[in-house]
Amino acid sequence: MASCIFLDIDNTLYSASSGISAEMGKKIHEYFTSLGLGEDEASALHHKYYTEYGLALRGLILHHDVDPVDFDQKCDGALPLEDLISPTPSLRKLLQDIDRSKASVWGLTNAYRPHAERVLRILNLDDLIDGLIFCDYQKPNFACKPDPQFYHDALEKARVSDPSKCYFVDDNRINVDAARALGWGHVAHFCETGLVHVEGGKVKKIGSDRKNDAENGVKVITDLEELRTIWAEVFK
Ligand SMILES: [Mg+2]
Repeated sequence: MASCIFLDIDNTLYSASSGISAEMGKKIHEYFTSLGLGEDEASALHHKYYTEYGLALRGLILHHDVDPVDFDQKCDGALPLEDLISPTPSLRKLLQDIDRSKASVWGLTNAYRPHAERVLRILNLDDLIDGLIFCDYQKPNFACKPDPQFYHDALEKARVSDPSKCYFVDDNRINVDAARALGWGHVAHFCETGLVHVEGGKVKKIGSDRKNDAENGVKVITDLEELRTIWAEVFK
């Protein structure tokens, strides 16, 4: 059976230096305040839901009866992505250099499909991705990383029966640790140490959750080009 490479999209296929996470944080904050919450309460709940549920949106659905598709249009859908990111030829080459007889390449994102597809299109990578695992905002109680269910669904959709054949890179340490705990074989934490990004509406220094490789077999990389080395067996 061939292997499957799963790539997180946001803050993995583009750098945190793009500032998208800050813009996303602002849009989500505005969404909270549009529900009638005060600034402080909005910030606190935004962070709480992100931490507890992996996505602020899930808390909004559970406790505020928010329509996820409306949320997606007003948050991810309203981001000026075209102004913030652009294709990187070296990243395109990286994906082209994967030996497709050995591994297929999938996106694995907590975003909804329109945002994921838009990012891949802007980055000029859409034709190099074999399939997309996304959060289906239309489904009640949809799963997201780091729920084990999300990873199980990913294997099913990508038709992978042996998790040891999975490759996965994500900028969120919690997400890669969750994959490792489920036996995913080759897992990398993309960690742009020194940069900042916004998570759950709060500015966070990247690398503050950096752990040593040895702990659970997760490799820490600061540049996606390092995948050529740590995953050499799936490159041409
Ligand atoms: Mg990410």
